[in-house]
Amino acid sequence: MTIPDPKSFQVKSFGCQMNVYDGARMAEMLEAEGMTQTAEGEEADLVVLNTCHIREKAAEKVYSDIGRLMKRGHAPMIAVAGCVAQAEGAEISRRAPGVGIVVGPQAYHNLPALVRKAARGEAALDTDMPALSKFGALPARRRQGPSAFLTVQEGCDKFCTYCVVPYTRGAEISRPFEAIIDEARALVDAGANEIVLLGQNVNAWHDEEGRGLEALIRALDALPGLARIRYTTSHPADMNEGLIRAHAEVEKLMPYLHLPVQSGSDRVLKAMNRSHDAASYLRLIDRVRAARPDIAISGDFITGFPGETEAEFEATLRIVETVNYAQAFSFKYSPRPGTPAAEMEDRIPGEVMDERLQRLQALLNAQQLAFNQAKIGLRTGLLLERAGRKPGQKIGKTPWLQSVHLETGAAIGELIEVELLSAGPNSLAGAHLLPAAA
Ligand code: SAM
Ligand code: SF4
Repeated sequence: MTIPDPKSFQVKSFGCQMNVYDGARMAEMLEAEGMTQTAEGEEADLVVLNTCHIREKAAEKVYSDIGRLMKRGHAPMIAVAGCVAQAEGAEISRRAPGVGIVVGPQAYHNLPALVRKAARGEAALDTDMPALSKFGALPARRRQGPSAFLTVQEGCDKFCTYCVVPYTRGAEISRPFEAIIDEARALVDAGANEIVLLGQNVNAWHDEEGRGLEALIRALDALPGLARIRYTTSHPADMNEGLIRAHAEVEKLMPYLHLPVQSGSDRVLKAMNRSHDAASYLRLIDRVRAARPDIAISGDFITGFPGETEAEFEATLRIVETVNYAQAFSFKYSPRPGTPAAEMEDRIPGEVMDERLQRLQALLNAQQLAFNQAKIGLRTGLLLERAGRKPGQKIGKTPWLQSVHLETGAAIGELIEVELLSAGPNSLAGAHLLPAAA
C-alpha cells in the first residue's frame, strides 16, 4: 500500500556512524523537498529504515520493524535504505510487500525521485553504485548539533574475510579535499563546534595530490569557530607517521583513537585477512602513545571466528591486557552471506562464542571503568551535547569521549570547564567550574 505525496517523514538509522551521517543527509534532502520531519513518537507518512547488514541480528531487525509499521492504523510508505537494501535488493519487497522503496547507500541522493515513483504506485528500487559520487547531488548542510559527522571516505578494498562492507558499500573512494573543507565550513556556520571525520577506513583517505588524512586535519585546525576534531574508524595498516604526529601537534585533535585489532592471535588475524599481527599492532600503539601519552585507545573485537581455539581466544585477552583500552566494541562472529569466512569449516558453537564474549567484555569493562576512575579530580574541557533526563541536567563529552552528566545553566553547544567528580563504567559526574568573577 502506498500513500500519495507523503507530507511528513521519519528516518531511523541503525548501525555505524556513517549510517547516522547518511540518515541526516536524507532528512535534509526530504526537508528541501518541503516535507516535515516528525517528532519522536509521532506517526509519519514516510518511514525510512536506514539499515545495517554487518551482523545477522542487525539485518533481521529490519523485518520486525517493517511488520510493526504495517500494523499501524494507516501504514506509512516504507523505504528500506542502507546496507540491507544494497545486499538484498528486490528480495526485500518480495519478503515484505509493504516496502515501497529500496535504496542503497550509494544511491540515496535519488530518494526524492523514488518517493514520487512509489507515490504513483510504481516500483522504486535503486541499488546502483554510480561512478560519480552522490555527494555532489546532495543539498547544502543545514541544522546541526554541537558535534557533526562528516563522511570523507567510503567503501573498503581490504576484504577482511568476515566483513560485508566491501560488498555493500563498494570500493574505497575518498571525497575531494575542497568538498570536505566546504562541508566542514557549512557545518561550523550551522553551529557545529566539533567535527568527526568518518570513513570505513577513514585514515585511508587520500587525494591525487598525495595528501592524507593528516592534511585534512591540519586544514580543519585552521577553521575559525571549530573547537574539536575527531576521526573514526581507522585501520592499523593506514596509520602513518604524519597522522601520528598530528596527535602530538594539533591541539584541536582530540586524544582518542579507534583502532580495531579484532583478535590477538596471529593465525586468526591471517585467516581474517587482517594485514597486521599482534606484535605490529602493539608497536603501533606504542608509537601513538609516544606522540600523545594520554590518548584513549578503543577497538573492535570478534570472538568465535571459525576455528578459533581456546588458546587463540586467550591471545585476544592478552593483547587487551597489554593495550589497556579506554573503550571497546566486541561482537560474536556472525557469518555473512557471500563472505569467504561464511564458507569456512570449524564453526564455533554458539555457547562457546557467548562464553568467550562474556570473558572478553568483563575485561574490557573493567579497563573502561579504570580509565574513567583515573580521571576523577581532573579539570578538563567538556562539550555540552544534549539535555539529561533530570531537570537542569546536561550531558557532554570530555576530550577522551567520555560522557559526563552535570547540572549547569550553560547552553547545549558550549565548551565549558569542569571538574570530574565520580566515575562509573559508562559515564562520569562533573561540576561546572565557573570563571572567577572579575
Ligand atoms: N573498518 C573497520 C576496521 O577494519 O576495523 C571496521 C568497520 S566494521 C563496519 C565494524 C566492526 O564490525 C568491525 O571492526 C568488526 O569488529 C565487526 N564486524 C564486521 N563483520 C563482522 C561479522 N561478520 N561478525 C561479527 N562482527 C563483525
Ligand atoms: Fe570490513 Fe575489514 Fe574493510 Fe573494516 S577493513 S570495513 S572490517 S573489510
